[in-house]
Amino acid sequence: MVCTSVSCLWTIFCLHLCFYVNTGIAQNTREVILLDSKAQQTELEWISSPPSGWEEISGLDENYTPIRTYQVCQVMEPNQNNWLRTNWIEKGDAQRIFVELKFTLRDCNSLPGVVGSCKETFNLYYQETDVEVGRNIRESQYVKIDTIAADESFTQGDLGERKMKLNTEVRIIGPLSRRGFYLAFQDVGACIALVSVKVYYKKCWSIIENLATFPDTVTGSEFSSLVEVEGMCVNDAEEEADNSPKMHCSAEGEWLVPIGKCICKAGFHQKGDACEPCGRGFYKSSSQDLQCSRCPAHSYNDREGSWRCDCEDGYYRALSDPASVACTRPPSAPQNLLYNINHTTVSLEWTPPADTGGRNDVTYRIICRRCTWEPEECFPCGSNVGFSPQQSGLTDTYVTITDLLAHANYTFEVEAVNGVSDLSRTQRLFAAVSIATSQAAPSQVSEVIKERVQQHSVQLSWQEPEQPNGVITEYEIKYYEKDQKDRIYSTVKSKSTSATVNNLKPSTAYVFQIRAFTAAGYGTFGPRLEVTTKEESTGSATVISSEQNPVIIIAVVAVAGTIILVFMVFGFIIGRRHCGYSKADQEGDEELYFQFKFPGTKTYIDPETYEDPNRAVHQFAKELDASCIKIERVIGAGEFGEVCSGRLKLPGKRDVSVAIKTLKVGYTEKQRRDFLCEASIMGQFDHPNVVHLEGVVTRGKPVMIVIEYMENGSLDAFLRKHDGQFTVIQLVGMLRGIAAGMRYLSDMGYVHRDLAARNILVNSNLVCKVSDFGLSRVIDDDPEAVYTTTGGKIPVRWTAMEAIQYRKFTSASDVWSYGIVMWEVMSYGERPYWDMSNQDVIKAIEEGYRLPAPMDCPPGLHQLMLDCWQKDRADRPKFDQIVGILDKMIRNPNTLKTPMGTCTRPISPLLDQNTPDFTSFRLVSEWLQAIKMERYADNFTAAGYSSLESVARMTIEDVMSLGISLVGHQKKIMSSIQTMRAQMLHLHGTGIQV
Ligand code: AMP
Repeated sequence: MVCTSVSCLWTIFCLHLCFYVNTGIAQNTREVILLDSKAQQTELEWISSPPSGWEEISGLDENYTPIRTYQVCQVMEPNQNNWLRTNWIEKGDAQRIFVELKFTLRDCNSLPGVVGSCKETFNLYYQETDVEVGRNIRESQYVKIDTIAADESFTQGDLGERKMKLNTEVRIIGPLSRRGFYLAFQDVGACIALVSVKVYYKKCWSIIENLATFPDTVTGSEFSSLVEVEGMCVNDAEEEADNSPKMHCSAEGEWLVPIGKCICKAGFHQKGDACEPCGRGFYKSSSQDLQCSRCPAHSYNDREGSWRCDCEDGYYRALSDPASVACTRPPSAPQNLLYNINHTTVSLEWTPPADTGGRNDVTYRIICRRCTWEPEECFPCGSNVGFSPQQSGLTDTYVTITDLLAHANYTFEVEAVNGVSDLSRTQRLFAAVSIATSQAAPSQVSEVIKERVQQHSVQLSWQEPEQPNGVITEYEIKYYEKDQKDRIYSTVKSKSTSATVNNLKPSTAYVFQIRAFTAAGYGTFGPRLEVTTKEESTGSATVISSEQNPVIIIAVVAVAGTIILVFMVFGFIIGRRHCGYSKADQEGDEELYFQFKFPGTKTYIDPETYEDPNRAVHQFAKELDASCIKIERVIGAGEFGEVCSGRLKLPGKRDVSVAIKTLKVGYTEKQRRDFLCEASIMGQFDHPNVVHLEGVVTRGKPVMIVIEYMENGSLDAFLRKHDGQFTVIQLVGMLRGIAAGMRYLSDMGYVHRDLAARNILVNSNLVCKVSDFGLSRVIDDDPEAVYTTTGGKIPVRWTAMEAIQYRKFTSASDVWSYGIVMWEVMSYGERPYWDMSNQDVIKAIEEGYRLPAPMDCPPGLHQLMLDCWQKDRADRPKFDQIVGILDKMIRNPNTLKTPMGTCTRPISPLLDQNTPDFTSFRLVSEWLQAIKMERYADNFTAAGYSSLESVARMTIEDVMSLGISLVGHQKKIMSSIQTMRAQMLHLHGTGIQV
């Protein structure tokens, strides 16, 4: 059967079609379908031109779902031109359109009787428009896409029959610029069944990648173009810094090349494509962290989604601390604070705190306060004090504090601080030490003025140094010719703040420098002052000045000398008439070494020589108006009544602190006389190291003696209170002061008779002054005085042999007592000869025994003591020599050095008798008690020193490591350990290995 009509052909065609429509292409999720003829159940109603050409025919697909197809098969007729046009397709946001055609095409050979007009291709066209156009097809308006041929028209079936094969062809059109388009199929004489037409474009579908959402994105217009798309972070996520999320949508609708990302915010962690909050007890401090972490030590939280954990009470986090570190707390106090004083410089050293608070950023800061002695009030040190390396932020465990005031009491607190110290409101923990600075040389004399310049002399004046650091006893003026430099120089001394330097050359440039001298020695020279002396007058008629003419100089000197001598002698006579003593004195007057110095010193007048003791009092003491005196409190008990402190305000003067000795009511006339006798004696003295009498109140009641106030009371008690707290230089400074006071008294011919540390008073600047003057009462008053076989009452331990034996009291016996005071000072108020009885002391002294050197006493000082205790009083040094020796020592502190542990005193018989036998003790506490250091018993126990053998092995470092910070106590303990070792060696004949 020849198939000549379309209907005829269809049967065959349909069979094959129904057989071969395969499962089709699975829905591609990247495609957006604009037209799918298969999906349409109703008629397609495309335009066919001519109407006899393409024909819409219904069929069934493999699932027996009805489909719409178009067929044409005008193979018998030549010159076919059959058009089929789709409905208008709105392109939406597509730019690149895919057209997928499924069709069957019979090959011409399979059609019986078909001649040359049969074709095996068809053409595909499109036309872009913004709106639908009419139903006419204008061929010229169509753009050809392609000529479509079947890949295979037929295949050979298993049974040998030829089977039609469904072809699939895809063509791409674009870029399209109008709102929509039509597709058109041109048949030129083929036998085609257009089974489906699908028109679609591709999209990259919304996706979450790297915690960023990328929206649906239409592919680009070109095959090769990638569309860059910015992602949006999912909830609780944020863009990674400088790395915002991007992806590229390919022409194939695939997401390519992800760049950047989002990350979960602090407090959230990633779970799949979302961010979830951290659970309770967990935190995530930063978006950079991947995981939530458990709260670090000493912190907690009780809510979800936390970026940090809160610190437990008492714990803190420094601003710079990351959330991941444990909460910490301030450190405990530094330990083992030690100090060292060198004049006005203090070095502190300590060991780190036991508890650093869990941190490793511990630094130290020093709080410096200057304190008054009595009442003890402390004030910040101010900015004049220097700290090396610095005051705070110290990383090392030491600091040096400079430029402190001399003779001042300081408190230093060493505080360990760490990164959370400032956050804590708990009490500050620190190690503290109170230190008294010693003497320091005066600061520079910087303001020097040339008052008068002559041909042969220059008169200078200057200001006292800003920090005298004590009583300036003289100034030294150094001068030299400028040309000579200071290779050859001369010096002149002055006791006041001006001086005239004589014997200079005329017209010569001189350089002058001045320095001050105190008990602590010389200060440094001030800046150079250049002065050129006046020109020598020339010419024949020169007036000869007194400066030039030696004859005149001699004459002037002679006349001046005579006048002064006459004046002095006259004054002396006048003075004698008035109890042999003139109040006009030389102290403080300018004294140039090159100028005249007349012999003659004030002489002490024994008030007992006055018939009327009242006259003696008023001769030497000022009568004060009782209304000028304000008594504040009782500070002690004297023999005649209470000793009070108070204020004295004299008209036109500043009020001053005073001690007021009162005479108790109901006194006898003798008691009154004896009481006022002290004032009569004291009133004769005027020296910085002798307690100063302000005046007396005799015309009212109570009768009072008003004395300068000595804040630190008597020296023996003061030293015992500050046991071990002073440097050797400080102690020697005190001794120097006492010696200077005694030199003055002995120069005046006054014999004290009761010189002892208890009779020395100490003021707030640590200046020691001799006090307790009296006559018969001197000894009566002294509880140390005992009756001797010679009849009098004598303080045996302080008194020279000849005074004990036959009451020979002289300045030389005062020197003996001074030696005992030296011993008391160097041993911090130890009782001379300890617990020996007075009888034993006298016996021991007679037999030649002398007190051994106190612990760590420089050998030179002990030698001076021994010199003071020379049996023959003529062999003892004079106070003047003692002052000189001590001055030398102060100027050369090296002579005072006693390397720790090397100052082993010779074990004298006296020492042997009185030093406790440490080997007899069983317990460490017994030994500590014997050396008055029982306060450290717990320290020894805690450190495991349970036996004296273990103690005997201790080194100074071991002692320090017990937390004993006072240098004096360290020395005391160490010295005792050395003695113990020596005793053990003696006892067992074996050494202690240290
Ligand atoms: P006296 O009668 O001098 O032994 O004094 C008795 C006590 O009063 C002394 O031990 C001191 O403690 C105290 N005292 C005496 N004079 C003064 C003074 N000028 N300044 C301060 N305290 C003093």
